[in-house]
Amino acid sequence: MGKIQMTTPIVEMDGDEMTRILWKMIKDELLEPYIDLKTEYYDLGLEHRNETNDKVTMDSAEATKKYGVAVKCATITPNAARMEEYHLKEMWKSPNGTIRAALDGTVFRTPIIVKGIEPVVKNWKKPITLARHAYGDVYKNTEIRVSGAGKAELVFTSEDGTETRELIHQFDGAGILQGMHNTDRSITSFAHACFQYALSTKQDLWFATKDTISKKYDHRFKDVFAELYENEYREKFEDAGITYFYTLIDDAVARVMKAEGGFIWACKNYDGDVMSDMVSSAFGSLAMMTSVLVSPDGVYEYEAAHGTVQRHYYKHLKGEETSTNSVATIFAWTGALRKRGELDQLPELVEFADRLEKATLSTIESGKMTKDLAMITSLSDVAVLNSGDFIKAIRETLDSNR
Ligand code: NAP
Ligand code: MG
Repeated sequence: MGKIQMTTPIVEMDGDEMTRILWKMIKDELLEPYIDLKTEYYDLGLEHRNETNDKVTMDSAEATKKYGVAVKCATITPNAARMEEYHLKEMWKSPNGTIRAALDGTVFRTPIIVKGIEPVVKNWKKPITLARHAYGDVYKNTEIRVSGAGKAELVFTSEDGTETRELIHQFDGAGILQGMHNTDRSITSFAHACFQYALSTKQDLWFATKDTISKKYDHRFKDVFAELYENEYREKFEDAGITYFYTLIDDAVARVMKAEGGFIWACKNYDGDVMSDMVSSAFGSLAMMTSVLVSPDGVYEYEAAHGTVQRHYYKHLKGEETSTNSVATIFAWTGALRKRGELDQLPELVEFADRLEKATLSTIESGKMTKDLAMITSLSDVAVLNSGDFIKAIRETLDSNR
């Protein structure tokens, strides 16, 4: 059988440590034998980011805008320890932050469901996808520790000098103050990304805030979503047979626990931070989680939800055996290949992505898995494989399903 041909390159962003090792194994064993892989390669490994003064990260984001689909390996976000370890010229910013800012995107995270790894919540039968607004609110706040009695006011000065003032609190003793903001532009692009992702995955969309208490701030989020839905999306949703549902955040939490899954849950920045950790750990593992950044103009960047698995990498460097789970990184590739196949009308490529995902899951369901899954599986008779052998086992399943 000949290799599957591609027409447009995928933007390939290589990364660091253990995930960089997995990246090469996945390409060698699971992709290149089957596909005439066309990528535009950017090395976001920390050494190369440092050599290029991080220009490579911006270049990879620009290429993603140009081609529309990227796949990213996990990368190190430098801290003080990494400055020394890699002799860095500067403490370069998080590549994910740089790419997110350039694409103005929303991150969607979905658990990968497999028999034998049961969600803690019994009634969750289908994945719950979390869409987190990634700008503003408490993450861009300004705070004051109030030392004693005094008056706190919220003041907005418009460009023509007009002031709007609201009393926050008349303090009669020490306390605390916080100011935060968001913009119509950012909320609107978040809403577009959510509606479009719901349409492209044919799932219902839920959104929740606390608009009964926050009558201007949270209410603005509710209104932006409602206006966009009525003006641009209602008809498309009805045609696709999906619904948009708004409720209060506490009601949403209660409903999510009783739901069977299969929908997208859009959350404000803080709610998304908290709820995505709850949802992902209740579904099993960060290594069984897909993550895609979607921009309002329909650009897609696929990655794993976990980091570079540094601890395993140091073992690997010492020549010790590792059992690192490559599922999320494999699914980042299949997500990108499927999207490329859809955009370029290459059904063979879409079908290959489906087959590789199926082969990955049935390998686990047959009892062959990495250590992290072996520790939580309900299956008995499990074979714990090392990093390389797990990928080879997936290849065997893939070949036997041909
Ligand atoms: P991590 O790489 O997510 O790993 C934390 C721990 O989770 C590991 O030590 C391992 O536990 C377990 N784990 C995560 N992924 C796994 C996998 N695929 N297979 C098996 N076990 C897995 O987080 P970290 O060690 O805190 O961070 C390492 C580096 O990653 C940091 O430099 C950070 O900046 C970066 N990071 C990058 C991204 C990204 O690029 N998207 C995201 C987060 C962090 P055990 O050790 O107990 O086996
Ligand atoms: Mg968090």
